[in-house]
Amino acid sequence: MAATHEDFVLYVDHANHLTPLTLAYHATASRHLTSGRSDVIPPSTTVETDSAYCPRSLTFCDVATALSGDGGYKDCPVCFSPVSISIDEKNSRTSSDGRLICHYLCGHCQWSSRECGVTSNADKLLEYSTSDDTDAPKEDELEKQRGLAIIDITRELAVCLQRRISEKNKDVDAIFNSITTIWAEREQEEQRRNRMNTGMTMTQGDSDRRENSWSREILEQSLLEKKQAMDTLFISRKANYPREDAKKLGDTSGIPENLPTPQQIAAQMTITAITPQSRSDLFPLPVYYRARVSRRCRAELAAGRTGILIKPKLNPLEGDTSLRAGHGQWWKKDSSAVHVVPRVRLCRHGADLACQKYAALLKVKNPTLNTMRLRLSGPSSPEVDNEEANNPPVPLIDKRELQHILVNPFTEKFVQGRLCSPNATSSIMPTDFFVLHPVDDPFLDVGKGQEDDPSEVSNWDATTILGAVGDGTTSQLRIVATKGDTAWVEMVLCNAATDAEVSSDTTYANAYLAVPLALQVEVGNGSWEASLIKRRDMPAEEKDLVTLYLVALLR
Ligand SMILES: [Zn+2]
Repeated sequence: MAATHEDFVLYVDHANHLTPLTLAYHATASRHLTSGRSDVIPPSTTVETDSAYCPRSLTFCDVATALSGDGGYKDCPVCFSPVSISIDEKNSRTSSDGRLICHYLCGHCQWSSRECGVTSNADKLLEYSTSDDTDAPKEDELEKQRGLAIIDITRELAVCLQRRISEKNKDVDAIFNSITTIWAEREQEEQRRNRMNTGMTMTQGDSDRRENSWSREILEQSLLEKKQAMDTLFISRKANYPREDAKKLGDTSGIPENLPTPQQIAAQMTITAITPQSRSDLFPLPVYYRARVSRRCRAELAAGRTGILIKPKLNPLEGDTSLRAGHGQWWKKDSSAVHVVPRVRLCRHGADLACQKYAALLKVKNPTLNTMRLRLSGPSSPEVDNEEANNPPVPLIDKRELQHILVNPFTEKFVQGRLCSPNATSSIMPTDFFVLHPVDDPFLDVGKGQEDDPSEVSNWDATTILGAVGDGTTSQLRIVATKGDTAWVEMVLCNAATDAEVSSDTTYANAYLAVPLALQVEVGNGSWEASLIKRRDMPAEEKDLVTLYLVALLR
């Protein structure tokens, strides 16, 4: 079964979330992983906005500036293409001289903001026009003046747009303000009443008072009144509309064009509160800034460390080859696990479902430029349990977690899993330690030809392995081969589920078998230096192991 784009070996983070390695982080010197999945509860990371940038111009700014206004770039409300600011002659014959007008103009569909009355007068520009006898220095001066005039004119255009939008929103804003004012008044009244009533018992004035005091019924009543007011407003606008429509029916042309499409209405509703009734209600749409966020690990934060996992640079182009330096350095800090944590993938596997036996070939690859010594083990081998309490406890994988296992973050593919019977994995003994050499840079060896996998790997066949497994054998792990930065480990699983489980779990017929495993990496003594984890104080002959938990999905 091809598993090229989907991860069937997932990593378990500090909050026991299952995560593909591509979405996992490893905080500097931390002994656990952090899931970058945003759909898990509770999330393992905190996210904060560092800066923002305009997706059109790629100009960047801090968060405060981004919140205070839009970037100035606009989209066409009709076809959603970018619009430009254009200064053109008024083409109407009625105006005597060639008056200039500044407006938003769509280069794609020729929509102009003249339709919605958003324009500014650009006649100022005529004052700085060039005649034939102007000399060079004067020409430069005029050019400068023209530039300044254009800045003024475009600013006026933006102001005009803002004014027109607030005009449209005026009624709705007024209703909203009156509601909040009424609530504030009610609240004050209630406070006053409470002060007066301190220590008093309710007397005859009780019923009167209740009328004026704050209550849910009164609040609902006032909301209802406001809602009716708003409905009449809406209806009155609607009432105007059929008449216009009927008028236009006479000439038949242009009616469908004049009605905004549902998409245009939806886009327009993000800037005005009133449903646009015709094309002339459509305003240019603002282009919103994109946020750039940094992430921190919640577990590291709780332990009093910074726990920064990823932090963007201010300029969105940093790292790009269009700049002179720093190519490829996209982040201030990037602790993505793919750079540090060994990648474990499922090469091939097979199953004998009748006997609940599985055989799988796992491939372990070192992504770092340093040597690594490590081993694979079952989730709770006796040796793991005997170690000091510093080791993370064996994770309890929640049933809900197994309902939505993310295997492909790019296509957002989720699968279901059912946990392998604990008896099947409890007997798994750790493999011997194996050494992974520093990663081979494939680009250094371009043209050298792809090296083949060792013959033990290419000859590995799940059916043969399963055939050789006797009834009495227990689950086990075995190193098949190691070569350079890669090792291959065979996993044989017996009695993965009891017969009762298999027959009763009809709902999970399609579910993957989730097999918990542990990856134990030695730190110190020249192993896994890229992780920056400090070796614990312990006798020199003992190994300091960092345990990372994995879940392999088999079917
Ligand atoms: Zn357009």
